[in-house]
This record gives sequence, C-alpha cells and structure tokens, in this order.
Amino acid sequence: MKSTNSILGSYGTTIFEVMSGLAREHGAINLGQGFPEDGFDQDILAHAASSLTEISQQYPPMLGLPSLREAVAEHDRRFYGLDLDWQRHVMVTSGATEALTASLLALIDPGDEVVVIEPLYDTYLPVIRLAGGIAKLVRLEAPDWALPLDRLAEAFSDRTKLILLNSPMNPIGKVFSRTELEAIAKLVQAYDCYAICDEVYEHLVFDGRPHIPLITLPSMAERVIRIGSAGKTFSLTGWKIGYITASADLIGKLGRAHQFLTFTTPPNLQQAVAYGLSKPLQYFTAITAAMQQKRDRFQAAMQGLGFDVLPSAGTYFTTVDIKSVCDDEDMAFCQRITRDARVAAIPLSAFYAQPVTSTLVRFCFAKPDSMIDQAIDRLSGAL
Ligand code: PMP
Repeated sequence: MKSTNSILGSYGTTIFEVMSGLAREHGAINLGQGFPEDGFDQDILAHAASSLTEISQQYPPMLGLPSLREAVAEHDRRFYGLDLDWQRHVMVTSGATEALTASLLALIDPGDEVVVIEPLYDTYLPVIRLAGGIAKLVRLEAPDWALPLDRLAEAFSDRTKLILLNSPMNPIGKVFSRTELEAIAKLVQAYDCYAICDEVYEHLVFDGRPHIPLITLPSMAERVIRIGSAGKTFSLTGWKIGYITASADLIGKLGRAHQFLTFTTPPNLQQAVAYGLSKPLQYFTAITAAMQQKRDRFQAAMQGLGFDVLPSAGTYFTTVDIKSVCDDEDMAFCQRITRDARVAAIPLSAFYAQPVTSTLVRFCFAKPDSMIDQAIDRLSGAL
C-alpha cells in the first residue's frame, strides 16, 4: 500500500502519551503529563452542566459564543489593558492546540521560515512542517535559559514569516523578561513578520512577577496572535477551550483556518468558561498563589532528595537535574522511576527537534499535597 503522510509518520506517539501509558501500566503517580488533579471549581462545572439544558446545543457562531468572546475581551482589558472589540478581535477555538494549528496554517506558506525556541512544546514542529514551514531553532541553555539575542537575530531573515513564542514556557518554566520581549518585538517589526504567542500559562507566573503579553508592547497589536487556554487557567484540561486575541484583520484570516479545522467548540463549555473568566481579580491571584505553594513544596522536597532543582518562574512544571543522584540519562531515569518508584516524569530530551543527551527531567507539581508527599516517599525509597 502507498505510504501515509511522511511528516506525521516521522513522529512517534507523543512522549506524554507514552509516559502516561507506562504510568498506568505500573500504577505510578503521574507527575509526567501536565494535568492538575485538584484546583478546579465546582461552580464552573455546575455552570457547564446547567448550560447543557439552558442554552442551545447546536453549532454556536464560528468565532465562538458572544458571551465567551466578550469575557475574553474583558479579561484582556482587566489584566493587560488591551482595548479590544469582542466582535472583531476574539476567536474561540477547541483548545490552544487548535488555536496554534489554525494560526500556523493561516500564516505559513510553503518555504516560509518560522523562528522557534528550544526546548519546545511538542505540537509546534509537526504543524509548522505540515504547513510547509521551515523551523529556525534558537536553543536556550540551562541553567538560566537566557535568550541568546545574537542567535535570535541570526535566526531571522527576509523569509521569516513568524516567531512562535511560549511564555511562561513549557517545559522549563521560563518567563521571558521585558528586555527579551522587547528584543523579539524589534525583530518582528524589523522583518515585518508576525508572532504567535502561546500564553496558556498566563495565570501561573510566580513570585509577584507580572505576565507581559508581547501584544501589549508598542507596535505589536497588528502583528501578534495571543493564545490562552481555559484548560490551564481553570485546571480543566479535558475541556479544550482555547481563545485567541488579535487584530481584526488577523482574526479574519485565522477564521479561514478554524472553519475548516473544527469550526466550533461545545457551547455549554464555552458558557462556563465565560463565567469563569468573569470572576474577580482575587480569584486569579489565588490560583497563582496556590500553584506557587505547590511549586515551593515540591522543589524543597526534591532538593531534600539531593536533586539539583532548576528555578521555575511560571507554568506548573519544574525541571530537575538528575546528575547529582545518578548516572542515568533522562529517558532511562524516567523509565526507571516509573517502573521502580512508581512515579512518572518526562525527559527533557523529548522537547528538542534533534536527539540530544540530557540529564534534565520535567515534573508537574499541579497535584494535591498528599499525592506529592507520596511521590516523594516513593522516590526516596527507590533512590
Ligand atoms: N501550549 C502549551 C505550551 C501547552 O503546555 C499546552 C498543553 N499542555 C497547550 C499549548 C495545549 O493546550 P490545550 O489543552 O488548551 O489545547
């Protein structure tokens, strides 16, 4: 038989599914795949349930329910001072994944170059390649993960269509500084291109730092596609509700892709997310504070086990260097602890375009304290 798509065929099953499968097989506590096991609100769930009978369950408008688009625009005004018209500047998608895919498909023509920063989230490269784009990788290096501005500038050319930026950044918990964002904005303007900003962890920025969307920088409003996810903000990853804010012109173009991908997203979940986004400011600060506490607790415990814990300024992940406790490489270590300690994690080498050797491992700390304690006990026993 003829071969199937060669780009998708060149990728295996994602590391998240592989490690979650191994975790299930061994009855492991899953600190690998990024999903919270607590912290979601019953009133948001109740809203989703009641909306099943109270509002129409037929195709909502292609751009999203008006209530959610209004709530996204208002959220962006409240948090970032953006002046948005919900009818022209907002589009709802089936998760940030669809938002990313729609944005990349809408912008890239075959042969266009796309600047991406490594280590990177795993959906970026396959979709860039499917769209015919050529990834230009800029690698950050541990332990400080600073953006190398000279190499960033070298990655841009007249063929650059866009930069794909993830801040706060999965897997390493980096939050781009204003200086780094300004350097990016300068290049985006100089090369007359776009930026797709994956900001799904916007409400998980710790230690009192603000989240700075690139779209808020001067001259960026027409060039930036800002992506958020209710899955992350409300700890409801299974819902797959994403949202985009961008210029009216860009939203029009993104809609061309979205209409052929999913067209729309379940209306009751949209309605419940609209309700969630409208909660008072303190609600969001409490989300951040609760997650920061989990980070501190987990990092201290891992340090206690002898790991070299790298800083996590945002997201619900932290990376640890395993060099100080064993001679394993990251993948072997993750397999070993899933099997022997019954705790799953994700090797950082999975976040690179080409094979790399690494001793860094990503753990998700968005778990109940009792689960974290049990995982630490198990790791301690096995090490
Ligand atoms: N971007 C990043 C950086 C992520 O970590 C994730 C989820 N793991 C997504 C996008 C996808 O978000 P969603 O579940 O809303 O599709």
